[in-house]
Amino acid sequence: MGKLADLLRHPDEIIPMLGMAVAAQKAKRLPQDPSLKFCYDMLNKVSRSFAVVIQQLPERLRDAICVFYLVLRALDTVEDDMALDDKVKIPLLRCFHEKSRDRSWSMSCGYGHYVALMENYQLVTDVFLSLDHEYQRVIEDICKRMGNGMADFIPKEVKTVEEYNLYCHYVAGLVGVGLSQLFASSGLESKEFFRLDDTANEMGLFLQKTNIIRDYLEDIVEEPAPRMFWPKEIWGNYADRLDEFKEAENADRAVECLNHMIANALSHVGKCLEYMSKLKDPSIFAFCGIPQVMAIGTLEACFNNHAVFTGVVKMRRGETAKIMWFMRDHTDLCVLFRHYAKLIAAKAIAMKASDPHREEILEICSQIEETTTARIEADTTYHRRATLEDDAPLPLSTRVLFLIVSLMFGAYAFKLEAAQNIFGVLLQHQYSAVDYINMFIAIVLVLYSIISIVERLTAIRYD
Ligand code: MG
Repeated sequence: MGKLADLLRHPDEIIPMLGMAVAAQKAKRLPQDPSLKFCYDMLNKVSRSFAVVIQQLPERLRDAICVFYLVLRALDTVEDDMALDDKVKIPLLRCFHEKSRDRSWSMSCGYGHYVALMENYQLVTDVFLSLDHEYQRVIEDICKRMGNGMADFIPKEVKTVEEYNLYCHYVAGLVGVGLSQLFASSGLESKEFFRLDDTANEMGLFLQKTNIIRDYLEDIVEEPAPRMFWPKEIWGNYADRLDEFKEAENADRAVECLNHMIANALSHVGKCLEYMSKLKDPSIFAFCGIPQVMAIGTLEACFNNHAVFTGVVKMRRGETAKIMWFMRDHTDLCVLFRHYAKLIAAKAIAMKASDPHREEILEICSQIEETTTARIEADTTYHRRATLEDDAPLPLSTRVLFLIVSLMFGAYAFKLEAAQNIFGVLLQHQYSAVDYINMFIAIVLVLYSIISIVERLTAIRYD
């Protein structure tokens, strides 16, 4: 019922959601080869939206990125398995990159779908070994660096902001670095991507920090022991213990800390926009850009919102479908980033002037607005597109009314019994030339009004 109410409140999300459902269905079609079939099936199970964007990548890159993703998910399963003794876990993390060369290796570990991933790891190995050597080298190198970084952090807490950045670099920044190298190796992006480590790292940091902020509650209630990545250097300014934020009497301090964490995450946006402006291939662009927009959208939903400490805050499925439907190029990406930056700034303006992060957030948002506006205005074709769309669009309700009137006229023209009841006239069931003209006009009107409704539902605008 809640979903239906959501759709009625946001009718422009209906068509994107149908489009997403079709794309997700398409992503479920699996390859014949049993090892590849397992990998793509796993991908669908662990991340539906990721499976959709990955399917749209060119074939030569798709399998490599699918394997890259699964190898790192397996590594993360080892890191996250609290039942695994550190004496086993730490050395395993450090040598995990070697497992992708051992056709007999698998283990029981993790929970949910990850149990199957770990128990059938030979199938991932099988696909890994069939990849180009260059792709294998990149995946192995990143897995080695990430595993060692994770192992370093097993016995210690994330305390300083520097450690927070380093941990996020190991678990997410390196994914950005590895992906850039895969893009460059495929020849679909320029060789410059071999050298974009710093900006690629920030792409990962922005996503990882968003997840860490959003998952506060999920992580803090984790059994047998919570594993938190909020740095004490930040939260220590607002509480003595991180779990105090859950309690209602600490709501104000909790939200101040949350806004501090969000300001820290938003500081990466400039570099993320710079990285994405260099991408040329449209499918690689969508693959990188969609998660980034989802991240700023999630931060907008979390900003100044105490619900982060008491439940799950995330974007509506319709809203994410709309983003995937709308975003085609870098200008669209800038439109979306500007849209969310404006929403965050509007919330900040409404906040108490005494809030310690109000000014900082406003400053970051105005920088994002400035950068994105400059890029939107530099794209002359976009300006033309936007003006065309602005041409006084009729509201959806008027279009639906027009369809109803057209259908009634159709009923009359085709002499349906219902029309006789509505109009209170008895129509002769013999057709004259005028009747045929009426029928023709009715068909045109009904088709026109249906097209006009679809057009309105798909013409998505962001301010
Ligand atoms: Mg982990």
